[in-house]
Amino acid sequence: MSNKDLKGPLTVIKGIGPETAEALGELNIFTVEDLLEHYPFRYEDYRLRDLTEVAHEERLTVEGIVQSEPSLMYYGRKKSRLNVKLLVGNFLIQVIFFNQPYLKNKLAINEYIQVTGKWDMHRRTITASEMQVGPSNKKETLSPIYHVKGSVTVKGIRRFIQLAFHQFGDKVEETLPQALLRKYRLPNRRDAIRMIHFPQDEQDIKQARRRFVYEEFLLFQLKMQALRKFEREQSHGVTHSYDSMKLKEFIEGLPFPLTNAQKRVVNEILTDMKSPYRMSRLLQGDVGSGKTVVAAIALFASHMAGFQGALMVPTEILAEQHAESLKSLLEPFGVRCELLTSSVKGKRRKEVLESLQNGDIHVLIGTHALIQEEVHFKRLGLVITDEQHRFGVEQRKVLREKGENPDVLFMTATPIPRTLAITVFGEMDVSVIDEMPAGRKRIETYWAKHEMLERILAFMEKELAKGRQAYVICPLIEESEKLDVQNAIDVHAALATYFLDRYQIGLMHGRLSADEKEAVMKAFSSNEIQVLVSTTVVEVGVNVPNATMMVIYDAERFGLAQLHQLRGRVGRGNEQSYCILLADPKSEIGKERMQIMTETNDGFVLSERDLELRGPGDFFGRKQSGVPEFKLADMVHDYRALETARNDAVIMIQSSAFWESAEYSSLRESLRKSDVLQGEKLD
Ligand code: ADP
Ligand code: MG
Repeated sequence: MSNKDLKGPLTVIKGIGPETAEALGELNIFTVEDLLEHYPFRYEDYRLRDLTEVAHEERLTVEGIVQSEPSLMYYGRKKSRLNVKLLVGNFLIQVIFFNQPYLKNKLAINEYIQVTGKWDMHRRTITASEMQVGPSNKKETLSPIYHVKGSVTVKGIRRFIQLAFHQFGDKVEETLPQALLRKYRLPNRRDAIRMIHFPQDEQDIKQARRRFVYEEFLLFQLKMQALRKFEREQSHGVTHSYDSMKLKEFIEGLPFPLTNAQKRVVNEILTDMKSPYRMSRLLQGDVGSGKTVVAAIALFASHMAGFQGALMVPTEILAEQHAESLKSLLEPFGVRCELLTSSVKGKRRKEVLESLQNGDIHVLIGTHALIQEEVHFKRLGLVITDEQHRFGVEQRKVLREKGENPDVLFMTATPIPRTLAITVFGEMDVSVIDEMPAGRKRIETYWAKHEMLERILAFMEKELAKGRQAYVICPLIEESEKLDVQNAIDVHAALATYFLDRYQIGLMHGRLSADEKEAVMKAFSSNEIQVLVSTTVVEVGVNVPNATMMVIYDAERFGLAQLHQLRGRVGRGNEQSYCILLADPKSEIGKERMQIMTETNDGFVLSERDLELRGPGDFFGRKQSGVPEFKLADMVHDYRALETARNDAVIMIQSSAFWESAEYSSLRESLRKSDVLQGEKLD
């Protein structure tokens, strides 16, 4: 792969001139190697098939004898449809060509033709995209289909790859050590390139793909593991030495005993904090599993060791709530906690910043502005972030580089399926709270059609009459915030009419100012408002234990993980809570998703299903997902290969052979060029 010839521009290939090279540039293909690594995304099967063995809607190629005069019909300006009857074996079928009127003249009764297209079993029809005239004589093949752009055609690119392979195929070098190829019975790189572009059969495709998938995952995991190694070895990380007796007292003084899972993760975190390594740990725990108190324990330990701590959250509302909980937990022990958000202004802001710089403030709570602005800590030892899944590996790296290499704990309430955890958070250590505090009631979840709204409102009225409160959630549509706000406003107006003077209805959405949001949240917390109509702003963290009911409009528009997050706003007190999903999903998958929500309260189960149903790109939401892109590999379907590669990478990075032996030189080379590792010293 590191071969000079393969790094050459496309024009070194005989048969490719500057014009073709430029066209291929549109596809991000610049070198011979790029061209050879432009893998097909599927194959057209030109091998003749027996119609009795073909499933409905499958693509296929058949050979037959033309039985009727072709009939051509035009409709619209450029649209046409060409029909012909074809005898395939004993089957008389219909073949349709759309928008290829010129084929009419090539069709003659009693001639042999081969057609390729999609089989409709019920109508006995093939909607054909391609046709060959004459009895088949050429070898039956699987033809690769490539992504193309501009003037480059699939046929063109097939030819260019053929030219490239013919001239430079023997220059393709192995990147993986022989031992690994043997262990997993993978074809060598050169064979794999040949097999993926010019397969003899399905086995070729399968084996070649297996090799490239493993290679992609291994390279990625090596980067992650190398990053982890370098970070761990930064000897100038913070060593927290604290009084463990006092920490024990603090834990015993909490209003409740820790669950076993909380105890376990507290130990994992404290072990990291005591060590001279920089902690880089992901703490996963379902909504309500009790992450805040774990954070408080870590912050208390850091304080005792003479350091300051910071807690960063994505929204101001959340910052305020966290500030309140942390104050109540920590201030009785003399730990001063302060809030810093954009609404802390003027003199007050100045005061906070000064007290922070001279060390009077021990724990600072706020949004991400905490580490970016004019904020200076005296001695920052621990940074905790909540809901970190919104940020990719680069952003996390920036965060870790702040200050004096503080220990960093990333908390997330989105249970992350293991496949994603080891890719998106591959460089981190992971702790999981997989147990809920005792006595939690299961939230009863129902799926209802929108037409049942009347009955649902009657049910809500009963809950409200018991003194409880309710959330009504309207979907957030990323492209059209206006529409989304309007939606919430309409629902708010409708409910205000429905409940008249009996109950107060509040409205919350992203367009309110921070002050307005705060006022609404306060009113809801103190039960001045009984029903809160809101967009997903309330998604994270908000805690009003008296709220026992949630209605989610258009629930099918949300991901399962997000629905689960939203649902976690109820069920926080001692009373039975309810979640009603209003949804009229059209697709089977949509129905399945609603069904799953009613069946389980387990965030990990839901997130695994969500990943399966929606794929990794959508799992975290499109923006800043941090989900890496692979050429061939698919982390959901190829999860076994991913785990294998991960385990191999962990071992490799620790071995001296990896850093010294020639067999690994190509892998080392790829690491050196990686974006993630820019600035880190290798060797
Ligand atoms: P999350 O993990 O969603 O951030 P919180 O930290 O907000 O969860 O905890 C949810 C609720 O559970 C809080 O009211 C908290 O006081 C309570 N809690 C946390 N740990 C325990 C425990 N071990 N026993 C009982 N209640 C607990
Ligand atoms: Mg929380």
